[in-house]
Parts: sequence; C-alpha cells; structure tokens
Amino acid sequence: MVETDVLIVGGGPGGSSCAHELRKHGMDAIILDKEAFPRTKLCAGWITPGVLESLQIRPEEYPRGIVTFDEIHGEYFGLKKQRPLTWNTTQYSIRRYEFDHWMLERSGAEFIVHPVKEIRKDGNHYVVDDLYRARYLIGAGGTHCPVARQIFADLNPRSPAYQVGALEQEFAYQWKDERCILWFGEHGLPGYSWYVPKAGGYINIGIGGFSEHMKNSRITLRQHWDLLTRKMEDLGLIKDHEWKPKGHTYFVHQKAKVTQSDNAFLVGDSAGLATCDLAEGIGPAIESGIRTARAIATNSRVDLSDIGRYSALGPGWKASVFGSILDRKGTFFRDRVYARDFRKKEDRYLAAAGS
Ligand SMILES: Cc1cc2nc3c(=O)[nH]c(=O)nc-3n(C[C@H](O)[C@H](O)[C@H](O)COP(=O)(O)OP(=O)(O)OC[C@H]3O[C@@H](n4cnc5c(N)ncnc54)[C@H](O)[C@@H]3O)c2cc1C
Repeated sequence: MVETDVLIVGGGPGGSSCAHELRKHGMDAIILDKEAFPRTKLCAGWITPGVLESLQIRPEEYPRGIVTFDEIHGEYFGLKKQRPLTWNTTQYSIRRYEFDHWMLERSGAEFIVHPVKEIRKDGNHYVVDDLYRARYLIGAGGTHCPVARQIFADLNPRSPAYQVGALEQEFAYQWKDERCILWFGEHGLPGYSWYVPKAGGYINIGIGGFSEHMKNSRITLRQHWDLLTRKMEDLGLIKDHEWKPKGHTYFVHQKAKVTQSDNAFLVGDSAGLATCDLAEGIGPAIESGIRTARAIATNSRVDLSDIGRYSALGPGWKASVFGSILDRKGTFFRDRVYARDFRKKEDRYLAAAGS
C-alpha cells in the first residue's frame, strides 16, 4: 500500500493547483489520473487575468503558447434584431494540452496513471482501490469524479438545471482572423458558440448550451454544430476542414454547495463550480484547489463561497453584491438570458429553412 498525506484524484487544474499549494505548505500529495499527461481535454482554453493572478504569473512568464486578446467580439441574436458586441478587455487563450501538463509538472507532486474505481474509509484514512492510502482525499476528477459519486452524491446533489452540454474541436490551422468571437443565441441555441485562435497555429471551435433547454429543443446540439461549421466556412474563418467534434457535459455553479465531508474534499468541476454566465471553469478549479490545500494545511474548514460565480462580474465587492442578487434567481442566465425566446427563434429559423 502506498501512503501519502493527500491523495488527489484528477490532475487537471483543480488537482494540480491543490498539489502545488500543499507542497508550499510542506505537505506531500500523490495525483492519480486515468490518463497519462499531456492529455487532450475538451475546452476552449479561454482564461481570464484572474487565472494568471491565482497562478501568480504574468502572461509573458507562461512557458507555453498563449494568445492575448485586447477585445472580445460577439454577436447577440435576439428575436427582433442581431446586435454586435465588443468588449475592451484583456483575456487570453491557452491550449489545455499544454497548460494542464505545465501545471502538473509545476506542482512537483508525484503523478501516477491510475483510473480510480473504489474508495473506502479505513479509520480516519481513505483507501483507493486497496493500493493508495491517505489522511486526506481530494476529488478533482471533473464531472464524473469517483470521489463526488461515492462520497458526495447525497451531500452535494447536482441538479440537471445547472448542466451544460458542449461540442468542440481543436486542431492545427493557420488562422488568419486573430479575433476571439462569440455568438450568443443564434438559431435559438440556449447557449453560445465560439471561435478561439490559439498560439502555434491552432484553433478551437465550439458550441455549448444548457442541457435542460436543449432536451426540449427542436434543433439538436449536433444540428447547431453543423450550422456553426457552415458559418465558419461562409465567413471564411475556416476552409476545407473535416469536422469531427467531441462532446462533454459539466455543471455550472449552483447555490448550495457541500465540498467537504470529514477529510474528503471536492474541487473544480467535480464540485460544479464553473461560472453561471459563460460556464468558465478553469479559474474556479484553480481557486478551489488552492483554497482547499490551504484549509488542509492550516486545519481549518474550507470556504469556497466567494469564488466568482459570474465571469462578467469579475472579482471584488461588486461581484459579491451583484452576484448575490443574481443568485436569488439561480437560473437567471439559463432562463432569462440564454433561453429567452429560444423556441420562437428556433421556429423562425426552421420555417425559413423550410423544415
Ligand atoms: C467544450 C468545453 C469548453 C470549455 N471552455 C472553457 C473555457 O474556455 N474557459 C474555462 O475557464 N473553462 C472552460 N470549460 C470548463 C473547463 O474545461 C473545466 O471547468 C475545467 O477543466 C475544470 O477543471 P478540473 O480540474 O475540475 O477538471 P478536469 O480538467 O476535467 O480534470 C479532471 C481530471 O480527472 C481525471 N479523471 C476523471 N475520472 C478519473 C478517475 N476515475 N480516475 C482518475 N482520474 C480521473 C481526468 O482524466 C482529468 O484529467 C470548458 C468545458 C468544455 C467541455
């Protein structure tokens, strides 16, 4: 049996940031991941300045490819009109293939490729698959994390109301248009689609929407994907590409959260911490990993309550004041923003397309 202070299930941003912080406090951690790194992770790889702040690095210090956007471009497709949007803001894109590997190496933690199956308690220790034993256990295994399923299923139930589904493809492409572009609610999609250029000649195209509305939609996510790829060709953004998207679901932040039970903890997507408006989860995963490590090292209770729940509000007091107002209607973005008039917009598109 391998013994350590802390066992971390999952080597994504949540797990590796936790391991990195534990090491700073003189604690050892082993990270178990079902995949060898570097590994592909479905993600647009859009990161905010807050992510770099949490990692305590400046963009020029990031040793892999990074693109800086000084503006984000978008279009909102309302029922009556289409509105162009431009935000003057500094944002970044990275490739998760590189970013997660870099974070894992930076953590200095021992890394073992092992798909975690069974977790049991042995006194005040946790035992994983009768092979690994630790006083503390971190669930950082994303949406299907075994720690979340086996220890937190009743404590932290994840409501389907907060689930998003996404389709995406990242591939080598000599992009010419260097803008990051988002399209909100096109053809009644209860979500948004994106075009995100990456460093080193890569591009990420994707589409995501709230699962519950998608279930009742007359246009499936796959059909929305086909519309998006046609649009890429029509706009001349991508030419002659063979499209092969992959799908994934995850959860955005819901109000009541239990992320600690005895000495077991959840961080990142396993806790469902992505933001409620843009479904960004990298920043919350890193922040929750760091805070959980600090709580363990200082023997205090973990508090994730003020982790940013809305990308648009950023950090600080405004985020907490306006965030609490938005929280009163937990599914505000899902129902009032993304799904607003989505059926009528769908019907209009289908009528125009003759189906
Ligand atoms: C299409 C798409 C686009 C997105 N775009 C963005 C974006 O642009 N910006 C943003 O901030 N967020 C984005 N997100 C969300 C973001 O990817 C996640 O919130 C983030 O990866 C969460 O990090 P994590 O460490 O919690 O989990 P993950 O990054 O999912 O890492 C979990 C790790 O656990 C491992 N694992 C799982 N099960 C087991 C097991 N049984 N045993 C061992 N290991 C296991 C996995 O192999 C994986 O390496 C996007 C998500 C999707 C699906």
